[in-house]
Amino acid sequence: ALAADWVVSSYDQHAQRNGDTGAAASEAQAVDLLRQLLHWPEHWTGLCVTGATMANYVGMALARQWYGKQHGRDVAVDGVWGLPPMTVFAGASHSSTSKALSMAGIGHGQLHALPLLPGREALDVAALERALVAHGDVPCTVVASAGTVNTVDFDDLAAIAALKARHPFWLHVDAAFGGIAAASDKYRGLLAGIEAADSVTVDAHKWLNVPYDCALTYTAHLPLQLEVFQNRSAYLPAPLAVEDNYLHLAPENSRRFRALPLWMTLLAYGREGHAELVERNCASAQRLGELLGGDPLFRLVAPVRLNVVCFTLANGDAAALQRLHKALHEDGTAYLSPSVLDGQPMLRAALCNWRTTDADVEQTYAALKRLATAAVHPSP
Ligand SMILES: *Cc1c(COP(=O)(O)O)cnc(C)c1O
Repeated sequence: ALAADWVVSSYDQHAQRNGDTGAAASEAQAVDLLRQLLHWPEHWTGLCVTGATMANYVGMALARQWYGKQHGRDVAVDGVWGLPPMTVFAGASHSSTSKALSMAGIGHGQLHALPLLPGREALDVAALERALVAHGDVPCTVVASAGTVNTVDFDDLAAIAALKARHPFWLHVDAAFGGIAAASDKYRGLLAGIEAADSVTVDAHKWLNVPYDCALTYTAHLPLQLEVFQNRSAYLPAPLAVEDNYLHLAPENSRRFRALPLWMTLLAYGREGHAELVERNCASAQRLGELLGGDPLFRLVAPVRLNVVCFTLANGDAAALQRLHKALHEDGTAYLSPSVLDGQPMLRAALCNWRTTDADVEQTYAALKRLATAAVHPSP
């Protein structure tokens, strides 16, 4: 992927029209290869954008266009003016969903966070159904998480998808890094039901280890995407086969050939390589979870579901936890992000690098133990 990224800069080909350039053709292939790797539906189309935030933006722009249609309005032409606000339901959605709603003119004030299952970050689907009914069963949007950024919890996509038969909503799934779990048969079940999604986000620059910046947006509604993103100009006419020209489907007009690193990594490592990466990271996370969970200095604040370990100091001392985070940062053994779960500060070890092995986990644990001891008992 890194070598491909260098080629991309040297070659400097923009990725716009399939047929004109190898860049767009390779992008079409990469998008389809990833779809196959994750066992996602054949009828989905997709393209590369700069990150999951941008992919979420595309999803929200499509939801907005669909919502307008439900009211007899072509929002791409006439704007949202005068339409009733579109409600967006979600569980523990990523902050970028709010940002995407702001950018799309839907407004992050329309985002309603619904109750989560007890002790989980997964949406309570019964609460979602009650909310849909209470909302009067008018068209709206549901943003599902696969998975959440703190504890990598997955909304029950199959149960949410089943609600689509009875309630009118656009289903967007944010699978920024959790989506890659589907590369492993062991974890694929976490994403069961995703085939019912109307739009989907997945990052390539996270678990796929492609250099920044690269993510993908998929949809089952290519015509809506064309309505939203079609570029109208005399010198860049709409081609006959619109799906062959990213100019009319992507937020960007000029586009970096960012699909090449993705294409390269997919072909280089294939199904086996990506399953191995996912399973190795998850096994290492389990190992780190066992080490921290078995040590009286630490306490896990969530079960290790996938590749993330959330923990805090057993004594619950928030100031000591802060000292530990700072000391670890300065020590440089590992980078852990500070976060908050259920109002309590914690540290979050997210394992997604292709080079990470159990040896790194042992080293990280040893550093954590050494630095936590010092943080809990600071020298006067
Ligand atoms: C990281 C992440 C995002 C944002 O991704 P960027 O690629 O940084 O824009 C969105 N959603 C989820 C669930 C994420 O983990």
